[in-house]
Amino acid sequence: MRILLMGPPGAGKGTQATIVSERLGVPHVSTGDIFRANVASGTPLGLEAKKYMDGGDFVPDSVTNAMVQDRLAQPDAVTGFLLDGFPRTVSQVEELDSILEALGSKLDRVVELTVDIDEVVGRLVRRAQEQGRSDDTEEVIRHRQDLYAEQTAPLVRIYAERGLLVQVDGMGDVDDVTARVLSALEA
Ligand code: ADP
Repeated sequence: MRILLMGPPGAGKGTQATIVSERLGVPHVSTGDIFRANVASGTPLGLEAKKYMDGGDFVPDSVTNAMVQDRLAQPDAVTGFLLDGFPRTVSQVEELDSILEALGSKLDRVVELTVDIDEVVGRLVRRAQEQGRSDDTEEVIRHRQDLYAEQTAPLVRIYAERGLLVQVDGMGDVDDVTARVLSALEA
């Protein structure tokens, strides 16, 4: 199964993606995680990405697209994946279409986690205190939310028009949200 998980920063995508991908036995492909791993190990890709990530800006497509193409072509992702963090713009939607077309595959389902934005900002501020992610300051959080609303939210409509979208209530206990996501995928 090839799944895309969407939702604003702080919606709990990473948490749900980790659990759901394990249940389904498909790799969790998170562009944010790949960037953070590269930052942590100091690769050239990480050094480039960090310039944008710290301010909450998108890493340029020239860097991001090649990275996603490379990851989705790896053997473990050929029969299925749970993609998280890409696409974030209309042009990345087109890029994903051509990456998948070249691999002879396509998305099966797009899950949007819907959340209350005030609750979500609270979650991010708590995560900042607990984990100290360098892009979790209040100003940067607000910028990431704005970018999501402007650039990424329009993708929901594109995938709805393609008949791929399922919306799942992302509020409440982690276990409850997981159960909702899994039943949406079975439907
Ligand atoms: P968030 O909680 O904000 O959704 P992510 O872990 O998905 O965080 O991404 C963290 C950062 O990584 C983003 O703010 C951005 O700088 C970069 N990033 C991740 N995915 C993409 C993408 N598809 N295009 C451009 N930049 C990206």
